[in-house]
Amino acid sequence: MIREIRLWPDPVLRRRALPVEAVDAPVRALVNDMFETMYAAPGVGLAAPQIGALQRVLVLDTRPRQPEVQPVAMINPRIVATEGGLSVYREGCLSIPGEAEEVERPAITTVEFLDVDGQLQRLRCQGLLATAAQHEIDHLDGRLYVDYLPMLQRLSMRRRAKRRKQERAGPEQGTSIAL
Ligand SMILES: [Zn+2]
Repeated sequence: MIREIRLWPDPVLRRRALPVEAVDAPVRALVNDMFETMYAAPGVGLAAPQIGALQRVLVLDTRPRQPEVQPVAMINPRIVATEGGLSVYREGCLSIPGEAEEVERPAITTVEFLDVDGQLQRLRCQGLLATAAQHEIDHLDGRLYVDYLPMLQRLSMRRRAKRRKQERAGPEQGTSIAL
């Protein structure tokens, strides 16, 4: 089921998501909804708080840029190592449509997480996958990429985001969700 993507400055995006205690059917259903919502958007990553679920779950599919990388769902992800210096990537966010800015993050990052079968996995992420994994893990801690930008820039982006949200809420927008 495609879920509504929460848009900045929705306060749910600033809350800290809670660890998943058991990887059960509801969690797998959440993962399925998140993939569906991400593909429909379209995007290459989505974190559960972006659809209003405060659980430590994220999905990634960077195949548009990295055909060799498989889509992955991460439950309770944790960065266990970074290497390779910093890389700059022009990031966007499904919760901040119409904006993109360069952000510097560690180039290679190893993430430990539970898969949808509850098995502990460890994945060394490079390129866009490394950027996207860090971006989504930030979402689980209530952090957005705009937090890495200078304050004045962030404030003007926030003003534009609020204006866009108001326009979207108008009656002429109809009833569709996740535009
Ligand atoms: Zn995002």
